Amino acid sequence: MEMSRSQSQNNTGPSAGSLAVVGIGPGSPEMLTIAAESAIKNADIVIGNDFYINQIPHLFSGQEIIKSQMGKEVNRAEQAITLAGDKHVVMVSGGDPGVYGMAGLVLEMAERIAPDLKIEIIPGVTAASAGAALLGAPLTNDFAVISLSDLLTPREVIEKRIRALCTVGIPIVLYNPKSRTRTSLLEDVIDIAKEQLPGETPVGVVKDAYRPDSKIIVTTLKDVMDVFDIIDMHTVVFIGGEETRMLRRHEDARGMFTPRGYHRKYVY
Ligand code: SAH
Repeated sequence: MEMSRSQSQNNTGPSAGSLAVVGIGPGSPEMLTIAAESAIKNADIVIGNDFYINQIPHLFSGQEIIKSQMGKEVNRAEQAITLAGDKHVVMVSGGDPGVYGMAGLVLEMAERIAPDLKIEIIPGVTAASAGAALLGAPLTNDFAVISLSDLLTPREVIEKRIRALCTVGIPIVLYNPKSRTRTSLLEDVIDIAKEQLPGETPVGVVKDAYRPDSKIIVTTLKDVMDVFDIIDMHTVVFIGGEETRMLRRHEDARGMFTPRGYHRKYVY
């Protein structure tokens, strides 16, 4: 019924409402952009999963809040598109909405069910940037990002990509590294990396970046299993590339660093 409302609006030209898919960054209010903040504050309706809605209570002052569950992304996208027929709707997504977030699904569904709807994607600080900043500068040159979630991508495909990436020696950032029920894929990925890269290759583990109780660990490929239990779905893992090295930051903190290549051209 609601879908026909947005469809009938399509027939009468652009709708009165709008939809913004907004990245809220890794968790702390300081890491949320000014554009994201103003979109959320000016919305009629804010929709998102519990975990993200709970990170931004300071931005609410009368907007209608619709909390939705993990795993219900298709329903959430359809609901947001439908409501945006005549309301300003913001869908919040963690980090950047275009990086394993809601932007793609929303655009794909809207193309079909509400092609005239005005949709804006507001970027956010993604976990790779947030974690990298806490570690030092591990991603200064080329790098790759892989999600280990096998809900939408078959496990064999993920392993094939990891195997290929390890052969080119660039840093790899692992999103969704391990869940309560899916632990063996991360073990396999570490084994694949060990076949291709030296045991001393730095590995960074950043849990809950820019959230209370964040953890930042710098270890190596040969020792990473010692911290395996700490890694969960709120963690991002950085496997260094062939040029990545440990960085001494201050007395009690190690970091990770990958040179951009200035040393090959300049003396400094
Ligand atoms: N759109 C999000 C990613 C969604 S996938 C982004 O751009 O960041 C969810 C995964 O992102 C988590 O399993 C974790 O690997 C990573 N992640 C998101 N926020 C994080 C944070 N604050 N600290 C560490 N990892 C995070």
